[in-house]
Amino acid sequence: MVCSFHHKGEFIPSLSSIKILNKENEAGFRVLLVEKGDERSLACDGCRELDVPLCMQYCKENEDLEKILREFLEQTKPREWAKKGLIGSG
Ligand code: SF4
Repeated sequence: MVCSFHHKGEFIPSLSSIKILNKENEAGFRVLLVEKGDERSLACDGCRELDVPLCMQYCKENEDLEKILREFLEQTKPREWAKKGLIGSG
């Protein structure tokens, strides 16, 4: 929910770049980050203007979320994020 606030200044969960989906046929959930936005969701920009991404500031599982976010950023925005220091450069 905070993700939509980051993007739009409003709480519009459907626009969020992060999607929490229940796993099918088993307990637990999956976390998906949107790489390319469309009319339904906005792309994750990693909250580049913040020292700590907004979703991590409010997630009670923020260590797990940090790992997921790092992997996503390493795959989608490696140069930009290595400069910021959120992810390794190598
Ligand atoms: S890091 Fe991505 S998913 Fe998290 S609040 Fe920022 S834009 Fe949304």
